[in-house]
Amino acid sequence: VTDPIVLALDIGGTKIAAARVSSGRVLDRREVPTPAREGPQAVVQAALDLLADWCTDAVALGVASGGVIHDGRVVLSNPKILPGWTGLDLGGIFRSATGLPVRVLNDAQAAAWGEYRYGAARGLRSVAFVTVSTGVGAGLVIDGRLVTGRTGLAGHLGHTQVDPHGEVCGCGRVGCVETVASGTALVRMAQAVFGAALDPRALFERAATGDVRGIRIVEAAVQALVQALGNLQALVDPELMILGGGIGQNPFYRACLLRALRTLPEPFRPHLGEPLLGADAGLVGAAAWATP
Ligand SMILES: [Zn+2]
Repeated sequence: VTDPIVLALDIGGTKIAAARVSSGRVLDRREVPTPAREGPQAVVQAALDLLADWCTDAVALGVASGGVIHDGRVVLSNPKILPGWTGLDLGGIFRSATGLPVRVLNDAQAAAWGEYRYGAARGLRSVAFVTVSTGVGAGLVIDGRLVTGRTGLAGHLGHTQVDPHGEVCGCGRVGCVETVASGTALVRMAQAVFGAALDPRALFERAATGDVRGIRIVEAAVQALVQALGNLQALVDPELMILGGGIGQNPFYRACLLRALRTLPEPFRPHLGEPLLGADAGLVGAAAWATP
């Protein structure tokens, strides 16, 4: 008996990835930039185009998406990252377009499930997957169960508050972790300080050469994330926290973070790990979640 093939999509603010997956192994993989500015229909179509010729031998489709996901629907998403995404019935849309059974998860929740089933957290009971990229997200597996909560909101670390006097967040709250520690926040702070558009990688390069203003921006972001990780440790006390995402895996950012983590009292200091599945964690997790 061969293991069934399950398709997976990972829809983020920057890129859409698709894969054919079997028992945690990625057999084929495709990726395109997310046409976020062209609206939700364009994003859905771009995702479907990636799956086009793969649907015939697959038994199900797992979708990982940014935003708060509940019952296949997008309950809430940051309009600055995926405009028009809130309210979409992703489960229904992809079910009718592909003819496959579909299950949908938040992207960080999917990555947490992927790392728990097939990656760095295999064999553990409790793990948090924290992703820092365009936004900040997290997924929680507690005692072997993926925790999604009453409305899918569980684990949304990026929308916990670190600054009551901070910026208004896309979610409607004030001073969320995402407004200080995300890639979007780094770009905004760099723009304010340097008066020029600077992507996070360019900012890290400046800071790495000793540019004091650059270092201050990165340290503010890192310090906010450290406090959020300390809060998460206090709430869930997972055995491992896996830090993923383009920024989370940047070596300069990671070195700053490891240094700053030492400022937390020992019981609040997470055991930090790297994603074993890399950028495929969301795809593998979504596929595992959808596997019948
Ligand atoms: Zn928020």
